[in-house]
This record gives sequence, C-alpha cells and structure tokens, in this order.
Amino acid sequence: MSAPARRATEGQRRGRRSREQMYKDIYPLRVLGMGLGLWVTCSVLVQIGELARFGWLSFLTMVVWPHLAYLHARHSRDPYRAEIRNLLVDSAITGLWIGLMHYNLLPSVVLAVITTHDKFSTGIKRLWLYSLPGMVGAALLVTLLLRPQPVWESSLPVIIATLPVIALHSLAVGYASYRLIRTVARQNLELKELRQRDAQTGLYARAHWQEQAQAVLEGARHNDRPAWLLMIDIDHFKPINDVHGHTVGDEAIRAVGAAIAESVREGDCAGRYGGDEFAVVCADTDEAQAQAIAQRIRERIAALRLAGLPELRLTGSIGMAHAARQHITLRDWLNAADSALYRAKHEGRNQVASTAPLPHPA
Ligand code: GH3
Ligand code: MG
Repeated sequence: MSAPARRATEGQRRGRRSREQMYKDIYPLRVLGMGLGLWVTCSVLVQIGELARFGWLSFLTMVVWPHLAYLHARHSRDPYRAEIRNLLVDSAITGLWIGLMHYNLLPSVVLAVITTHDKFSTGIKRLWLYSLPGMVGAALLVTLLLRPQPVWESSLPVIIATLPVIALHSLAVGYASYRLIRTVARQNLELKELRQRDAQTGLYARAHWQEQAQAVLEGARHNDRPAWLLMIDIDHFKPINDVHGHTVGDEAIRAVGAAIAESVREGDCAGRYGGDEFAVVCADTDEAQAQAIAQRIRERIAALRLAGLPELRLTGSIGMAHAARQHITLRDWLNAADSALYRAKHEGRNQVASTAPLPHPA
C-alpha cells in the first residue's frame, strides 16, 4: 500500500476511534466548564437569597454530574450514544438553572448559548436542535413548580463569576477552530496526493500523469524546448499471471514501478499508464539524456529479482518519442511513443526504440 493510502486508512481508523472515545475528550471540558458554572449558579443564588435552599443542587449538577456522565459513558455498551445522552442532559441542566436563577439575564444567556454551542462542536447532525426541548422543558418545569419571580439584572459578583466562563469558552473555541483548520488542510493535502498516486506502485496515476504530460507538451511546443515521452511495457506479462498467479504478477508490477522510480531524474514525471504499461515524461531533455534514462530503466527491470520468485526474469520494452510541433494533442505524442514501443516489441523486446525527431515545419 502506498504511503498516502496508508495514511488515509490510518485516518479512517483514527476517526472511528475518536467517535468511541468522544466521552473521554468531553470529560475534562465538562469538568472545567461545569466547575466554572458552579460559581455562576452559586453567585446568582447568593444574589437572590436561595443559596441555602439550592446550593446542594448546584454542587450536584456542576461538580458531581460530570463524573457521573463519564462513568455512565464508560460503562455503557455504546459509549458514543451514552455521551450523546449526556450532552442532552447538560442542556436540561442548563434549562433547570435558567429557572432556578430566576432568568437572571447574563448567566442565563451565557449558559444557554455555550451549552448549545457545545452541541455544534460535536459535529453531530442536528444535536443542537434535539437539545432544545430538554432545555426549554426543564426551564418550564421549574417555572411551573417554583413560580420564580424574574430577576433580570446581575449583581457584580454574578458578572465577575460569569466572565471567566465567557473568556475561557471563547479561547477554547478559537483553539479548537485553529486545530480543525490545520487538520483539514493536512487531510486535503493527503487526499490530493492520494488521488494523484497509483495505489499499487506509488507512481502518478494515469489522470494526473496525463495532466503533467500535457503541460510538458505545451511547454515544449510554445517555448521550443526539447521533451521526451517514454512508454514502458513489461514483456510477456500475461504468462507470468497465468503461470505464477496474480499475486506474483502484482509483485512484478510493484517492482517494475520501483525500478522506474529509481531510474528517473528529480524533475521527470513517472506514472502508471494502466495494466503493465508505464509512462515517463521528461521536460527539457535531449535525445541522449532520454536514451540514458530509458536504458537505465530497461537495465534495472532486467536486473529485478522478486522475493517471492527469485528465478523469474523480467524484461521491459520501451518506446521513446520526441515532443514535436506536429504533436498537437497529448494523444498524438502518446501515439508516437506507442508506435516506437510496438517496434521495440516487434524487434525482439527488452530494448529501447525511438521515433526519429520529426522535422520542424519551415
Ligand atoms: P507483451 O510482451 O506483448 O506486452 O505481452 P504481454 O503478455 O505483457 O501482453 P500485455 O501487455 O497486453 O498484457 C498485459 C496483462 O497485464 C493483461 C492483464 O491481465 C495484466 N494486468 C493488468 N493489470 C494488472 C495488475 O494490476 N496485476 C496483475 N497481476 N496483472 C495485471
Ligand atoms: Mg506487456
């Protein structure tokens, strides 16, 4: 498996694991957030003179609940679903406190917004929406049972207790976005690389190779710079599959891909064209340099020994074509290299054949 493919599979595995471990990630955040909520709720209870009556409930919901939530998810058969239930309970607790705080505006709005925001952060579709009935329901229940008189204004201690919640939450959200942006950028790069590569050999995949070859052809045509295209085909590959099986055939394709990658220069673009056929495009390259690359590839293929079948001898035939003005499209250039390859095959294989550079039109 190529490196980008391996990284993508690893990424999927990480994704599954992070889903199952969600409760572990949320646990410290819940402990911290609700720990700060303890000061907010207690400061409001002091302001409205209800600390003696409901202080214990603040302790229970803000200090004890985060640990209960963790244990619940941890011992659940489906920790992910259990944590979703925990998140819904968080919202109900907030609704409860909106009523118990007599709708004190600043802490009520801050706690309601933060609790709902937490649902967005999970990335779970519509969780924020599903959390609203619990929050509103709990606030209504307290309203019906206790008939609290609204106390809209916040005392200075309430404001002071609420500020760290706002500040820490904003910073945490900012940091999480920063990490997310970096992860997405990295994954985009990995995906792009994955799309560009042939999974079996790690060489460029056909579509990406064609894009590069097209650019080289255009550069050669417009700037009159020499360029060469090499088509490489493994000789008598079908019998290898038929006699030794496809596993050995695949091993041979990987080995030939590696031999080609080792033989080309830094700026050359080597791709798997399909099946047992490979292609290399060399920009700013004269015939002697292209010949040297082609011979290197041919020799390396001939020297290959497969670990699974060391007695097997592999050879490859190579057709080379010069980028000429007459090659309007990439197809024209490929056809020229293909006919040289045909000649190499026809004249005995394990050799390099070249189309004579076509004369420039006057
Ligand atoms: P020639 O010397 O004329 O090229 O003869 P050949 O037997 O190599 O003929 P050809 O190039 O047409 O054969 C290509 C074969 O490669 C046909 C197909 O079954 C096999 N092949 C294509 N892709 C794969 C692959 O990924 N793995 C394996 N094991 N075989 C493949
Ligand atoms: Mg072949």
